[in-house]
Amino acid sequence: MTPGPLLVLDNVTKNFVVRRSLLGLPTAAVRAVDGVSFSVAESGCGKSTVGRLALRLMEPTAGAIRFDGRDLAALSGAELRRVRAGAQLIFQDPYGSLNPRMTVGEMLAEPLLLHTDLSADDRRERVADLLRTVGLRGEHAQRYPHEFSGGQRQRIAIARALAVEPKLIVCDEPVSALDVSIRSQILNLLKDLQQRLGLAYIFISHDLAVVKHIAARVAVMYLGRIVESGEAKQIFAEPRHPYTQALLSAAPVPSTAGRRARQILPGDPPSPLDPPPGCHLHPRCAHAQDVCKSSRPELTIASDAHATACHLWRDIVSSVPPASVAGPEFSARLQRLFRAFDAKVQD
Ligand code: SF4
Repeated sequence: MTPGPLLVLDNVTKNFVVRRSLLGLPTAAVRAVDGVSFSVAESGCGKSTVGRLALRLMEPTAGAIRFDGRDLAALSGAELRRVRAGAQLIFQDPYGSLNPRMTVGEMLAEPLLLHTDLSADDRRERVADLLRTVGLRGEHAQRYPHEFSGGQRQRIAIARALAVEPKLIVCDEPVSALDVSIRSQILNLLKDLQQRLGLAYIFISHDLAVVKHIAARVAVMYLGRIVESGEAKQIFAEPRHPYTQALLSAAPVPSTAGRRARQILPGDPPSPLDPPPGCHLHPRCAHAQDVCKSSRPELTIASDAHATACHLWRDIVSSVPPASVAGPEFSARLQRLFRAFDAKVQD
C-alpha cells in the first residue's frame, strides 16, 4: 500500500486579532492564512505562519492538519509532544534560537533527555555524532553559542533539529541572515541531509534563487492565499499567475535590459487587515476583469498538476507565451543567474 502524505493541511485558516474593544471582544483581525491546503510527501513550501501551524505551535482558526496520518487537533499532552517531535523547526536567526547560557552539548542533549531513554554516555556520543553530521567537531559540545560564527550557529540549530530523528523540518528563511558564501554551504548541507536521512522540508523563503535550488515543489502565496503551486521546474519555466510572473520578472539581474523587462505590480500591497474582495490581487493586476473584483478564484489543478488561482490564467498564458513573460533576453539572463547560483552552491 502506498503510504499517505506526511503532512496534510486541509483548508486551514489563521486569523490574528489585532484590535479589541474595551470589553475585550475582537474588532479587527488579520487573516494571515486563508483557506490553505497542501500536502507534503517529500518536499514543499509555505510561509511562516503555515510552518508554525504545521507544527501546531499555534492553533488554526479553521481547517484540519494531519501529520503522519494523525489529526493534530485530537492530540494533547505527551502524545502531542511525541508526534510533534517528528517535525522540527529551524529559524532564520540561529543566534536568537540558541540559549546563550547553555553549552552546545547541553542544548543538543536536551531533546534527547526529553524524547529518548539514552544513558548519559550514549547521549554524549549522540551529541558528538550530531555535531559531526552537520560538519562540526565533537569537542564543539563544550562551547557556548557566542563562540561560533553565524553559519556554525545555523549548523548547531540544524543538529538540534536532527537530534530526535524527525521526518519533517520546517526551515523558516534559514539562510536569509547569512552571508552569500555561507548560504551556499548551509543549503548544500540541507540538501545532503535530505538525501542521506530521507527528510522532508517545508522551506520558506523570499529568495527565488534559493527556492529554485532547494525545492522540488513550490507554493507561491499572496496575502495569505496560495495563488500558484506545482513542480519547481514548471513554476520557474511557465509561471501562470500574474503575481508569480511579476515575482520572477523582479528577480535581481545585473543588467538594465532585465530591469526594463520587469513586470511591476502597481501600488503597494493592500493592508492584510482589509484585503480587497474577490481576487486579492485585482487592484494591482493588469489583467483584472469585473469577475476578479467580486469572485475569489479557487486554486484549480490543471491536467499537468500545476495549480493556479486565477480566473483568467488560460487566456493570460495563451496571449503571453512563456518565453516572453519577461522577454527572451530577460529569460536567458534569469537562466544564467540561476546557473551561476547553482555553480556557486556546488563549489
Ligand atoms: Fe488578475 Fe483576475 Fe487573475 Fe486575480 S483573478 S490574478 S485579478 S486576472
